[in-house]
Amino acid sequence: MYDPLIAEKISPFQGYPKSYWEATTSERIQFPPIQNNEQTPVVIIGGGFTGLSAALTLLAHDQPFILLEANEIGWGCSGRNAGFLLPGSGRLDYSGLAASYGNAVAEAVTNEYYQSLQTVDDLLSKLNIDVEMTNGGYLKIAHNAKFAKKMQDAWQALPQQWKEQYQWLDAKEIASNYVPEYASFGGLFRQQGAGINPLKLAIAMANKLKQELCQVYCNSPVDAWSREGNTHVLNVGNHQIRTDSVILCSNAYTPHKLNDLSKKQFPVLSSVLVTEPLPQDIADGWRSGLMAMDTRSLKYYYRLLPDNRILFGGRGAVTGKSANSSKSQVQLKQAFNHYFPNLAHIKSAYFWSGWVSVSADDIPHVGIYPDSHNVLYATGYCGSGLAFSSHAGKRLAERYLGIRSAKETEVIYHKPIPAFPFSKFRRIGLRGYYAWYRAMDSLGI
Ligand SMILES: Cc1cc2nc3c(=O)[nH]c(=O)nc-3n(C[C@H](O)[C@H](O)[C@H](O)COP(=O)(O)OP(=O)(O)OC[C@H]3O[C@@H](n4cnc5c(N)ncnc54)[C@H](O)[C@@H]3O)c2cc1C
Repeated sequence: MYDPLIAEKISPFQGYPKSYWEATTSERIQFPPIQNNEQTPVVIIGGGFTGLSAALTLLAHDQPFILLEANEIGWGCSGRNAGFLLPGSGRLDYSGLAASYGNAVAEAVTNEYYQSLQTVDDLLSKLNIDVEMTNGGYLKIAHNAKFAKKMQDAWQALPQQWKEQYQWLDAKEIASNYVPEYASFGGLFRQQGAGINPLKLAIAMANKLKQELCQVYCNSPVDAWSREGNTHVLNVGNHQIRTDSVILCSNAYTPHKLNDLSKKQFPVLSSVLVTEPLPQDIADGWRSGLMAMDTRSLKYYYRLLPDNRILFGGRGAVTGKSANSSKSQVQLKQAFNHYFPNLAHIKSAYFWSGWVSVSADDIPHVGIYPDSHNVLYATGYCGSGLAFSSHAGKRLAERYLGIRSAKETEVIYHKPIPAFPFSKFRRIGLRGYYAWYRAMDSLGI
């Protein structure tokens, strides 16, 4: 599989991964590869939710642009994620944000995360599409007593408007009404958690751009990027695009030679399996449409899909070469069997992987690239970007148009993204991190 830290370029025409979404989504959309040299005020690089949302926002303001996608619309994370539509991004929750940046910032940033749900809602009604939304709620499960207490304290610290959206469930209730026979230490449940088919959303967003005759080119990777004075020159195969501004939405998929973004965010693999449908009597024991995650350091997440399959995902391999190996597939199934011993006999029907972008300071960064001439970028969603990416794309386009965000949200919209220390050794560190936390998790610590 393509590895952004190894490959010098990202190849076109790779086609969608053989995911459950690819197999069950009949809609497709086609845009041609770029065929001429072009000049435009702004180029958007990347056709995931961030890039598509930036494009839709520019369209709404009658601004011309070109969008370049290396493969198909939603080919990166956007079309292959787990479909958890949640109010959050990065790895810091409200308490983590408050501890690092104070309550006012924590409140403003959390508010942005909640607004991202509104952004997606607005998109869904504007595009008038069915994204197979399930409303089974979201459950965060404590895997030991220490984390149960930690989670309850963090819940109590939430401002009232968000605190009241959650309720505490004890272990017995979870095992009887949510996830059958699951051993836990209780968990926090949010009724409003929704799951969607993300590929459908990406295709619908692109469809609107197509209807409005926007300049969108697929299978058109930017291979090289240089500057002539204040003009950016982007090379796509044999063609050149000259532009005043670039909105960089290639996120974790950015090839490391394109610019130094790959030193400031860490592409990490997340892998997903989808099982064969559960027999109806077993599925009946689950809360319909439930989405869940636990508090382990090496988290796994799962949801019951509308056709009674379980989507189960978590940490993947370290390199693109091993991403889809049979070893990686077996390891994820073993983790599934460990979580759900009573479902171990249910076979896995789909398996795929994708790169999520982790930032050194655990928060997303959406803004102007440091020391650049009109380069805007968004990255570092840390695996929570389905809702936030659409909001980030909108904010990027607004920034391009000169609209600034509220001062209290500067930490995600203005703070320069820090580089990873010893970036060359990140993968060695990641292997160590996985080994350490695998041991901790197996001890239940
Ligand atoms: C397995 C998995 C499960 C996930 N589950 C969830 C979830 O349930 N909920 C959630 O909130 N988040 C989830 N995420 C994260 C979420 O999907 C991402 O945060 C979000 O989709 C990022 O969107 P994006 O548009 O910024 O990036 P992407 O969707 O990755 O888009 C980047 C695009 O840029 C293109 N590109 C790269 N380089 C170039 C170039 N040189 N020229 C042109 N184009 C280029 C790529 O082809 C790619 O299509 C998951 C991620 C994975 C991998």
